[in-house]
Amino acid sequence: MKPVITQHIRAIHDYPKAGIVFRDITPLLADGPAFQQTIDHLVERYREAGITKVVGIEARGFIFATALAYALGIGFVPLRKPGKLPGKTLQQKYQLEYGDDALELHADALTATDKVLIIDDLLATGGTVLAGVALVEQAAAQLHECAFIITLNDLPGVQRLNDAAIPYYTLCEF
Ligand code: 5GP
Repeated sequence: MKPVITQHIRAIHDYPKAGIVFRDITPLLADGPAFQQTIDHLVERYREAGITKVVGIEARGFIFATALAYALGIGFVPLRKPGKLPGKTLQQKYQLEYGDDALELHADALTATDKVLIIDDLLATGGTVLAGVALVEQAAAQLHECAFIITLNDLPGVQRLNDAAIPYYTLCEF
């Protein structure tokens, strides 16, 4: 059963700008038993899935992805903003409300034999995670699933993942 974590997610109004309700995960992280239940639940879900790498999206995705990778005893691979990874990278651009952004993956971080779980803290428009999925595809690795702590159901990410037949899992929804 999914742990009930909604009470540990704080709504911050008008952040980062007027009209936006930001879902703040820091109370969840600060509550030891709630954070542990969150990770333990993901461990239970993915223990027998044959995943070889947990891919985390900068920056809040790293928190959950590294804890899960450690607990599963498998590797963690970061997807980072441009210019942060020191080695040769693959890059995928994506659209923001105003302008573009991009994610990068070390070119040698994944291989065709990898079965990958992508983790981010939250799914909103889906642009970020779809860039992550495209990078896993560029690396010729197999995507097992994408996992989020939160999905926002009034934004198009859920529909975009469904339309693209990308499997995903979420712990809570707003
Ligand atoms: P998307 O690309 O799906 O529109 O946005 C998801 C990305 O933006 C995630 O990497 C997530 O960390 C960040 N993000 C957008 N809105 C929120 C929010 O309300 N709360 C949190 N914690 N992250 C958000």
